Amino acid sequence: MAVTKVFARQIFDSRGNPTVEVDLYTEKGKFVAAVPSGASTGVHEAVELRDEIKSEYMGKGVSKAVDNVNNILGPALIASGLDVVDQKAIDDLLIKTDGTPNKGKLGANAILGVSMAVAEAAAFAKGVPLYQHLAEIAGVKTPYVLPLPCFNVINGGSHAGNSLAFQEFMILPTGAKTFKEAMKIGSETYHHLKKVIQTKYGIDATNVGDEGGFAPNVSGATESLDLLVTAIEKAGYTGKVSIALDVASSEFFKDGKYDLDFKNPNSDPSKWLTGAQLAAEYNDMVAKYPIVSIEDPFDQDDWESWTHLTAGTKTQVVGDDLTVTNVIRIKTAIEKKACNGLLLKINQIGTISESIQATQLAQSSKWGVMTSHRSGETENTFIADLAVALKTGQIKTGAPCRSERVCKYNRLLRIEEEITLATGKPALFAGLDGLSRGLTAPVLFTQ
Ligand code: PGA
Ligand code: ZN
Repeated sequence: MAVTKVFARQIFDSRGNPTVEVDLYTEKGKFVAAVPSGASTGVHEAVELRDEIKSEYMGKGVSKAVDNVNNILGPALIASGLDVVDQKAIDDLLIKTDGTPNKGKLGANAILGVSMAVAEAAAFAKGVPLYQHLAEIAGVKTPYVLPLPCFNVINGGSHAGNSLAFQEFMILPTGAKTFKEAMKIGSETYHHLKKVIQTKYGIDATNVGDEGGFAPNVSGATESLDLLVTAIEKAGYTGKVSIALDVASSEFFKDGKYDLDFKNPNSDPSKWLTGAQLAAEYNDMVAKYPIVSIEDPFDQDDWESWTHLTAGTKTQVVGDDLTVTNVIRIKTAIEKKACNGLLLKINQIGTISESIQATQLAQSSKWGVMTSHRSGETENTFIADLAVALKTGQIKTGAPCRSERVCKYNRLLRIEEEITLATGKPALFAGLDGLSRGLTAPVLFTQ
């Protein structure tokens, strides 16, 4: 089924910044996609095209990207006559129309909006749910597996107005048997955490950061981890909930060192840590707390520190800014044994086909894969379907709070129900096996 019309507009993301929305039409109807946006973006990501007109939207307008959809990408797609089910051919056309290696001409935000809307149109044309269509184009076989949700319940780094350097403290209901139960555990623990924080620091410490997690003014990572352990215990889930970190350390890498006081303009350089010192801190934390995953422990180009940590830990080490959902960076990381997990962010690379390739390269190297939102999100739920389709086994889309986060989790609840109804058996849930490296995790794929 061919595309008959494409129309883009500027809408707003969860931080109140402009972003791109695309309406794509076939003779069957209209299909809409909205593009997310990061704050702690990696330098190697595909280009998010902003207008850079300082007097408007603080330079963050996306009218150029919108125009590129309306005047260049849309017309090229319509003229090609390509069928929406042929995602790869369409994505190749979009990439070729841009013509740069980093989508810098037309913008990854423009290209991704079209690429996502094409997948929605194709699923509808086939009369199947989006996750089924995505699984089919990726060649992934059923049974589907619901991912382990990684709830970001304490926000720091560039996502919160506190002094905490590490960006994300996540709780993972690894002891849950179904996605629905994982949501219950996540939500209850979140609310216990609120009480714990309120009791210790007062009511104004329970305001939330960009991803719906609390943002108390704690002194550092260990204090945050202690809060999590207390909340998990009070909720009655000790042993059933694990912890994951996203350090997002590229944000505080300065002159070859790590500045854990980076939000303080008078930070003392003599206190900045070397990669080896920071690694020692991670190893201490892993020994003391139930930490099962650490994302971006080091700067995006500090390869040596990555390789060293990964060699000496059993914990999942996830590349985000390091790998930017880009097969070239992932191949380098595989060669250097720099990490053993991929953070999958579709707007880091800009098309659905390339996102699938990146995931499958990581899976074939026995890495874990965590599908991810961005800190600036919309009500779009595409990544929930993608996580199920590609059996990524893990998803992080913020706290169980704020609709731009919860809409993805809610979509997963509906998918779980739909699969259960369609198959007459409980839908499979990744649980702890979501953290097993690669596609061959025992429970995930043999049940
Ligand atoms: P970002 O944060 O969307 O601001 O990059 C998410 C992450 O770092 O994983
Ligand atoms: Zn990250």
